[in-house]
Amino acid sequence: MASELEPEVQAIDRSLLECSAEEIAGKWLQATDLTRELYQHLAHYVPKIYCRGPNPFPQKEDMLAQHVLLGPMEWYLCGEDPAFGFPKLEQANKPSHLCGRVFKVGEPTYSCRDCAVDPTCVLCMECFLGSIHRDHRYRMTTSGGGGFCDCGDTEAWKEGPYCQKHELNTSEIEEEEDPLVHLSEDVIARTYNIFAIMFRYAVEILTWEKESELPEDLAMVEKSDTYYCMLFNDEVHTYEQVIYTLQKAVNCTQKEAIGFATTVDRDGRRSVRYGDFQYCEQAKSVIVRNTSRQTKPLKVQVMHSSIVAHQNFGLKLLSWLGSIIGYSDGLRRILCQVGLQEGPDGENSSLVDRLMLSDSKLWKGARSVYHQLFMSSLLMDLKYKKLFAVRFAKNYERLQSDYVTDDHDREFSVADLSVQIFTVPSLARMLITEENLMSIIIKTFMDHLRHRDAQGRFQFERYTALQAFKFRRVQSLILDLKYVLISKPTEWSEELRQKFLEGFDAFLELLKCMQGMDPITRQVGQHIEMEPEWEAAFTLQMKLTHVISMMLDWCASDEKVLIEAYKKCLAVLMQCHGGYTDGEQPITLSICGHSVETIRYCVSQEKVSIHLPVSRLLAGLHVLLSKSEVAYKFPELLPLSELSPPMLIEHPLRCLVLCAQVHAGMWRRNGFSLVNQIYYYHNVKCRREMFDKDVVMLQTGVSMMDPNHFLMIMLSRFELYQIFSTPDYGKRFSSEITHKDVVQQNNTLIEEMLYLIIMLVGERFSPGVGQVNATDEIKREIIHQLSIKPMAHSELVKSLPEDENKETGMESVIEAVAHFKKPGLTGRGMYELKPECAKEFNLYFYHFSRAEQSKAEEAQRKLKRQNREDTALPPPVLPPFCPLFASLVNILQSDVMLCIMGTILQWAVEHNGYAWSESMLQRVLHLIGMALQEEKQHLENVTEEHVVTFTFTQKISKPGEAPKNSPSILAMLETLQNAPYLEVHKDMIRWILKTFNAVKKMRESSPTSPVAETEGTIMEETSRDKDKAERKRKAEIARLRREKIMAQMSEMQRHFIDENKELFQQTLELDASTSAVLDNSPVASDMTLTALGPAQTQVPEQRQFVTCILCQEEQEVKVESRAMVLAAFVQRSTVLSKNRSKFIQDPEKYDPLFMHPDLSCGTHTSSCGHIMHAHCWQRYFDSVQAKEQRRQQRLRLHTSYDVENGEFLCPLCECLSNTVIPLLLPPRNIFNKLNFSDQPNLTQWIRTISQQIKALQFLRKEESTPNNASTKNSENVDELQLPEGFRPDFRPKNPYSESIKEMLTTFGTATYKVGLKVHPNEEDPRVPIMCWGSCAYTIQSIERILSDEDKPLFGPLPCRLDDCLRSLTRFAAAHWTVASVSVVQGHFCKLFASLVPNDSHEELPCILDIDMFHLLVGLVLAFPALQCQDFSGISLGTGDLHIFHLVTMAHIIQILLTSCTEENGMDQENPTCEEESAVLALYKTLHQYTGSALKEIPSGWHLWRSVRAGIMPFLKCSALFFHYLNGVPSPPDIQVPGTSHFEHLCNYLSLPNNLICLFQENSEIMNSLIESWCRNSEVKRYLEGERDAIRYPRESNKLINLPEDYSSLINQASNFSCPKSGGDKSRAPTLCLVCGSLLCSQSYCCQTELEGEDVGACTAHTYSCGSGVGIFLRVRECQVLFLAGKTKGCFYSPPYLDDYGETDQGLRRGNPLHLCKERFKKIQKLWHQHSVTEEIGHAQEANQTLVGIDWQHL
Ligand SMILES: [Zn+2]
Ligand SMILES: [Zn+2]
Ligand SMILES: [Zn+2]
Ligand SMILES: [Zn+2]
Ligand SMILES: [Zn+2]
Ligand SMILES: [Zn+2]
Ligand SMILES: [Zn+2]
Repeated sequence: MASELEPEVQAIDRSLLECSAEEIAGKWLQATDLTRELYQHLAHYVPKIYCRGPNPFPQKEDMLAQHVLLGPMEWYLCGEDPAFGFPKLEQANKPSHLCGRVFKVGEPTYSCRDCAVDPTCVLCMECFLGSIHRDHRYRMTTSGGGGFCDCGDTEAWKEGPYCQKHELNTSEIEEEEDPLVHLSEDVIARTYNIFAIMFRYAVEILTWEKESELPEDLAMVEKSDTYYCMLFNDEVHTYEQVIYTLQKAVNCTQKEAIGFATTVDRDGRRSVRYGDFQYCEQAKSVIVRNTSRQTKPLKVQVMHSSIVAHQNFGLKLLSWLGSIIGYSDGLRRILCQVGLQEGPDGENSSLVDRLMLSDSKLWKGARSVYHQLFMSSLLMDLKYKKLFAVRFAKNYERLQSDYVTDDHDREFSVADLSVQIFTVPSLARMLITEENLMSIIIKTFMDHLRHRDAQGRFQFERYTALQAFKFRRVQSLILDLKYVLISKPTEWSEELRQKFLEGFDAFLELLKCMQGMDPITRQVGQHIEMEPEWEAAFTLQMKLTHVISMMLDWCASDEKVLIEAYKKCLAVLMQCHGGYTDGEQPITLSICGHSVETIRYCVSQEKVSIHLPVSRLLAGLHVLLSKSEVAYKFPELLPLSELSPPMLIEHPLRCLVLCAQVHAGMWRRNGFSLVNQIYYYHNVKCRREMFDKDVVMLQTGVSMMDPNHFLMIMLSRFELYQIFSTPDYGKRFSSEITHKDVVQQNNTLIEEMLYLIIMLVGERFSPGVGQVNATDEIKREIIHQLSIKPMAHSELVKSLPEDENKETGMESVIEAVAHFKKPGLTGRGMYELKPECAKEFNLYFYHFSRAEQSKAEEAQRKLKRQNREDTALPPPVLPPFCPLFASLVNILQSDVMLCIMGTILQWAVEHNGYAWSESMLQRVLHLIGMALQEEKQHLENVTEEHVVTFTFTQKISKPGEAPKNSPSILAMLETLQNAPYLEVHKDMIRWILKTFNAVKKMRESSPTSPVAETEGTIMEETSRDKDKAERKRKAEIARLRREKIMAQMSEMQRHFIDENKELFQQTLELDASTSAVLDNSPVASDMTLTALGPAQTQVPEQRQFVTCILCQEEQEVKVESRAMVLAAFVQRSTVLSKNRSKFIQDPEKYDPLFMHPDLSCGTHTSSCGHIMHAHCWQRYFDSVQAKEQRRQQRLRLHTSYDVENGEFLCPLCECLSNTVIPLLLPPRNIFNKLNFSDQPNLTQWIRTISQQIKALQFLRKEESTPNNASTKNSENVDELQLPEGFRPDFRPKNPYSESIKEMLTTFGTATYKVGLKVHPNEEDPRVPIMCWGSCAYTIQSIERILSDEDKPLFGPLPCRLDDCLRSLTRFAAAHWTVASVSVVQGHFCKLFASLVPNDSHEELPCILDIDMFHLLVGLVLAFPALQCQDFSGISLGTGDLHIFHLVTMAHIIQILLTSCTEENGMDQENPTCEEESAVLALYKTLHQYTGSALKEIPSGWHLWRSVRAGIMPFLKCSALFFHYLNGVPSPPDIQVPGTSHFEHLCNYLSLPNNLICLFQENSEIMNSLIESWCRNSEVKRYLEGERDAIRYPRESNKLINLPEDYSSLINQASNFSCPKSGGDKSRAPTLCLVCGSLLCSQSYCCQTELEGEDVGACTAHTYSCGSGVGIFLRVRECQVLFLAGKTKGCFYSPPYLDDYGETDQGLRRGNPLHLCKERFKKIQKLWHQHSVTEEIGHAQEANQTLVGIDWQHL
């Protein structure tokens, strides 16, 4: 590009470079008006350096700016060469004890849960590792950018504020010392001058708003016509819209447009066109026109180039200032001073103010530069931090309003600095007292929520999109309020009290606007037309929840404040509901001689609201009062007398009744919005300041009222008063009203009311209500959660309310109530309730949802049955109430309560119709139980002088009075005990009667025997019950087992299985464990088994019968019968690759005949082992295909499999498949002409074969030469002497049935197609090679797995593997029968020539570059094509054996050539054995043939050891291969695990134990062969160190090593920047677990084109690294990603667990994560087994949403 610059520009550059910084600085030092001088300098030079053309050259600009502009300033500042000046400044600097490191996006941050004052206090990784907190409970998160390390801030940490590094700097900081004392007067003066001028310049130019005119003092003499069309960022338009528009407007390529859009998104602006004004204006209008249709248009400005130049330099200047002050704290202080100095225009005219106030007008890039400068200057200086905080608070309202109307995210707004200021407790307190910050925040917030109803309450009901947007932004103000309140004051000053209470007033104003907001009315008749908006109100409630709790905390810390706040809150509540009787008629209620005045009000008919924050705040304050000392000592000081209990309870009661009615189905027509509100009302996120406080308010009310009055009001609000006030109402009710719905409704309401009474009496676990502490409360929550089921840590945390520090307090108590059970390979660690805690279980625990309640009930009863106890779940013993609430218990023995209980029991006794329910009875029984427990406790704790006034037992023994004459409650219970329809409740009634007797006994305090008696009978009874239960249980188990078997059987008969997959999975696994044993069982244990050669063990032909899974027909596998096939999956693989940079470049031309020993790209075949008829499969596949086409037309849905690519799911197990393998008998037997007499030895055999090859090649040449000289040809034929018995014209007859032949072709073609990624072509000569290759590669990969897991070679292999290998090997051996004989012969000749050279094959790979096992398989399987034309009597077995020996020897030479290691110094003194001397001799021969290039190795021991170790994998693979090929059972020795089976393998493979003997026996031919191998120039090059070669044994590939601590991965990833967009941080850094590359995933910047489609970095990487299959770790998400091809993928659970045995996908919880080696191994195993694609298939079948993800863009 540089050369394109005009010569004029280059001339300018040259003149610039001639400037001398020292000279300029000298001129400035002399100047009288420095400002003018500097401005002139800038006006002259800045436009010459910056913005010289359409594209920025940042490096050149920076270089010139440093030279011409900044350099002189540095000289001026130091007064000498800055190279000396700055180090001097640094020496005088006192290093800060604050870390202040500004976080990058994605950088890990740490917060100590034990010591951080609040969760916003964080450490950088370095400080964390050097701090005491690394051994504490900590939380780890990734930073969103912005914010800095709080190390060294003593206010941020309760303990250990310094890390080791920053601790060093603390020694001198005792007294706050002015940092300027270390600087000379001169330096101070000059620094002051230059900072003042330059800072002002930067502020002026950055906030300059004119587009084509410069400020006067910077104006240029001649103005060029050069402009930029500047595009600005907004959060409204999408990337795609911007890219599309740019392509249209400025005529650029898509790539350029992406570049522009990325920069605009990152920096906030980018020039998209450079030229004259007209030219830029034109582009602007196109952009505006194109983007203004739906939304507001993109912001575009046409700016003069000189303005842009000055602005760019302004930014450079700010960063420069930031780096200069890094040298010295003195300079930093001067900058702060300059920044905060008030300007000539008074208030708000300081540079800092000016920047802050124009924040929302600046573009992103400018904002972040100056924010960073603020953080490194103002916030790092203790003195100026305070002054800055005051400026920030004074401007608070403006800044927040600007933010709310702006559209940038909060992290790009200066308003976001609030977290840095407000969370410092001393600053926050100062701002509250001096700047009234609390009130300011709350008022600012309220100002932005102007939408109110007639009563002045917020109205969210019909919110517009714009309002909703604004509302979202306004919420950040609540966060600010939270920051301010986050640390409670330890001491209260009078000012603080005053200002806090002022703030509290403002807060009450806010709550008042919420009290009663969004009221609802029950819909009758019609369903509501539109669901009202409810989320906004609840969002507000949720956001305020913590603030309310903190307000309460503050109040609790000072009694004066508490009482004042209580009074204020009460006053506001009176304002809200003072006239609650307005327009509502007073009525009188009376029951059992009690009467009370109230109003007529029906929840079901009038308006009711769920939002009652003022009432609830009062309830909270009341509890605090109850806890305080005043409540005991001076109750008269409390404003209790002003309370009107009926007024207090009215609204909370209405709200609770509303919930009951919703539950009873009375509000169905009000739609889902109400259901959702009720849900959140009880939900853990809201309940603390909603539902819980309503219960407390009712408790407060009851404790101050006559309980009878309370109950009557309650009956009235529940609209049940009639039922209980009228004697015999129940009877009339059930007979008169036949409307079943109404009865049902009333039943539910009664149940709900009883439940509420249970809660009022039983919920005393909030400190202040009952005599408990906070720990008791959490314990109880946990006990009840774990009563439902054992839970993982995170589940438990989710069910508990968090405080503002995100703590639940769970850890402190969990050990006391639960046992921890560690996780296995899958699943999570679980907490189980300790058995002794079960007695604290309360069935009517108020935080249970209905579903939880019934689950818990079931679980607890089951537990009791298991423990052989009765199944009653009586109420637990409760702690006593606090004095203020003590009288509440009387509700249980109040007349109205007894009346209600009596009435319901009466209904149960009469048991007529449906006017009662069992739940109703159950609740009454529970209440009676509670009352008995209460009385018992009273009696136990009674002191001499007190009389126990709680006399429930007496009251329930009395029968009803006159007109009713009903029996006593006790009598009714006794009756019910024997009611046959109450079987379930019998145990509970029995428990009540027993307890009743016990209490009665205590009261009479005279021992009686009957109790013991009853207990005896109970015991007997229970043991009888137990026997019965046990018998029943056994019968049940037997029945289940029977059912399962039946189900399995019927399942087997089904054709397609799409249900009960799991059951099948189980049966499959069962198969696997019992598999292979049958097949491998030795014929006779003492027999030597030989797998190949003339001496091969003859196996009697076994008939094989198989059943088709599709038609269930059984069939024998025979040569001539219809084909049976196995579902199979062929895939390319690099799992064994030793060279990931290599991949097939041009598949059309690629020759796969020789596999390189780096195994860089293989073809793997797997199968689920399920057998079908070929024709059944064909039919199935056709139907799948047809169905898929229909489905795609209809739904455009994707499936987990790609039908067009031949993929389908196995009809039985749904395993992903893409072809089928035919099932065959051992194919050799068909061709093996048995003639074992007089077989040639190796030398003879090689000679014969060479002759035959020669003859074939001659004939081939004849055929290919044109037929112009036919006579000559025939002569030549005569010339050729055909070897004896060789008949090249013979074509053997194919023995297989048509159907089998067809399947041979099908599978062969599939292997070829997938393996080479080409179009199917069954004629292609490479088809047979690919079949052999897949066979060899699959065997090699299985051998690796077995070795890695230390499993025996022929141990019990899962049957799917066994079946797959057998079929694959036999198929590969039979495939030549459907290929052209001459093609296969051609392959054989070429393969053979690689070991036995002949003239016609020249450029063959050297033996270092051939994988010998692939070669062996190819030779053995191609050999029949040659042998079938040989009638000289050489058997196939002889050929196999000689091929095997020959290849083995070549492999040994390969090993010896590459075995030179550094270990050769280690001489072994052992006497050399036969093998060692033999190998040494061989090595010497080699040494000689290689022209002494081979290193001398004296130790035969070492050589022999290398040979043995190096050849093992080959021997094992060969054993597997010949085993499956010839069907010879494996020797029993190799079936069991053991260290080495070398000898056994040699025997089985017909090899001498001393392998070197092979050479000695055939030395005649071998010497010449070895010589020819060594002659190859590649061998020479290798030995001379010019190239590398694979060594043996090849090590198994492993996934990369992962660090133990997950945060080091996060750190690594946070340092990773996108490789394509110049130093930008990657948003989704993703680690390839195969090769360790870090990729910039899921981002436009790193998309590349692959096969004509845009794909993300991961997909692109899979193609080079894993031939389409990839295993990644998404570092930010802590999630494993599997990818296969472009369309398939799934997420997999990561191998990192927290201390509770749980993964944290998405890093949401932030617990420290550690590597779980077992889980990582499991992932590695999936990879080794080639099961990743299958795993994806299963995941996608199980979760359809995975199918829709655009995996290719990851
Ligand atoms: Zn730090
Ligand atoms: Zn530190
Ligand atoms: Zn700590
Ligand atoms: Zn069939
Ligand atoms: Zn299957
Ligand atoms: Zn990128
Ligand atoms: Zn990779």
